[in-house]
Amino acid sequence: MVTRRPNIVIAISLVLASAILAIAVWLLAQMRDDALRRAQDSVFNVSLLVERDVSRNLEIYDLSLRAVIDGLKQPGLLELTPALRQMVLFDGSVSAKDIGSVFVVDEAGNVRFDSQASPPRHLNLADSDYFKVHRDSPNVGLFVSHPFIPKLTGEDLSIALSRRISRPDGSFGGVVVGTMRLAYFRRLFDGMNLGPSGSMALMLSDGTMLMRRPYDPKVVGINLTGTANYSRFVQQPSGEFFGTAAIDGVERWYAFRHIDMYPLILDVALSTRDIYVQWRHRAWIIGLLIAGLDLTIITLAILFAQQLRHRRAAEDELRELARTDGLTGLNNRRAFEEVLHDEWRRAQRNATPLSMLLIDVDSFKGFNDLYGHSSGDDALIDVARSIARNVRRPGDTAARYGGEEFAVLLPATDEAGATRIAEQIRAAVQALRRRHVASAHHVLTVSIGVATAHGKAVATRRALVDAADEALYDAKDAGRNRVQCYRSTASAAAFDGRATPATEA
Ligand code: GH3
Ligand code: MG
Ligand code: MG
Repeated sequence: MVTRRPNIVIAISLVLASAILAIAVWLLAQMRDDALRRAQDSVFNVSLLVERDVSRNLEIYDLSLRAVIDGLKQPGLLELTPALRQMVLFDGSVSAKDIGSVFVVDEAGNVRFDSQASPPRHLNLADSDYFKVHRDSPNVGLFVSHPFIPKLTGEDLSIALSRRISRPDGSFGGVVVGTMRLAYFRRLFDGMNLGPSGSMALMLSDGTMLMRRPYDPKVVGINLTGTANYSRFVQQPSGEFFGTAAIDGVERWYAFRHIDMYPLILDVALSTRDIYVQWRHRAWIIGLLIAGLDLTIITLAILFAQQLRHRRAAEDELRELARTDGLTGLNNRRAFEEVLHDEWRRAQRNATPLSMLLIDVDSFKGFNDLYGHSSGDDALIDVARSIARNVRRPGDTAARYGGEEFAVLLPATDEAGATRIAEQIRAAVQALRRRHVASAHHVLTVSIGVATAHGKAVATRRALVDAADEALYDAKDAGRNRVQCYRSTASAAAFDGRATPATEA
């Protein structure tokens, strides 16, 4: 089946190659999903970790500020020595890392107590944002300021964390404020593993940037209100999404969360590029391997199909050669016997007549002797051509039966039809006007025996051939260059005179 239809090999190879490709594509898609999922997990975990650290530190810080407020309420605070008073007020807060000065500010904005100096440094903070916020509203709680550079030290970007001091009657009694160096956040961010293009940012709820990784001092303090990412941050307490940073235009996977109880938003993001970099590398390798494999399969299939086609063509040619007579190009005797076998059965099955002509060149021995063997061959070719020209119906078969004898098989043809064709052949050979001085007719002629199997007179294949042979013998006997139909011996005598007489050339 495959040898008969070489294209099946190519079709199978295409199906195979497509299947391999489909599997590879599916696998790569899975790997890509996995890469994203891993990145999502890692971003989520980092955001959780950082949030906890920030929130715990702010809590410690807030507790310190509350401790100062509680200290202020102690009776007899003012009677203590300055050193003792410093201890009572600031003992809890000064030890924390990244904490700058803690001030107690009175209702006019003047610093009354200073964690780092006693007597306090001379400062008025009435124009600071936190002072105004606490003065104007009693219920702010812990206030986180915009980033600034403290006036006293002049370095280290910081934020101020503050709480209001309320008098027993609820009126404004000043502010406790401490500064916190943003370096704390920077160290915290740098400690996380986020890939070369990852980013982290901590911002105030109003969109003011406090710290970002990668660190850039110019970015600290800018306001992100209106950017696409910030708009998503404020919609929910936490979330995840693909977004593009307004600051650097890099696409990333974001996890953000509002830090519990504080007016802060944290985001952690891995760049899409980093997420897929390893996957992309592998996809290239797998893709190239699969492409190579598919190409090899298809190429081999094409080559194989080509070989099959060549082989089939060669086989067909051989088969054709094995059935063809080399000199005349007609079927050879073997092919004739095959056709006869098939047609005989068909005729039996369909109860149709089957006729056979046996054609023999007259006095051919003499022709060879006279004109040479090679002229004899040419004459045979011409005779074959004359036969072929008159046997044209599909299903009719002309063959060289042997030597200078030819046979024609005419399916579904009765005796009258077969005789007509035989007569045409006979006339055609005579019309060649090939000189044959040794013949009684002076030109090359043939005698033809006709036999038809229809009904019982001719019972077997062999009998049909024998009948045609007998008829031919009769034609020779009757003087050659004529067509003779077979008559069974019983009736032969009665029909003896009915051989078609030759018209003299
Ligand atoms: P007739 O049939 O009329 O009784 O006389 P004939 O001379 O043809 O007798 P026969 O059929 O016995 O002769 C056959 C001759 O045909 C013998 C041989 O010399 C010649 N012959 C057979 N095959 C070939 C061939 O392939 N080429 C040539 N040139 N001659 C052939
Ligand atoms: Mg002969
Ligand atoms: Mg002969």
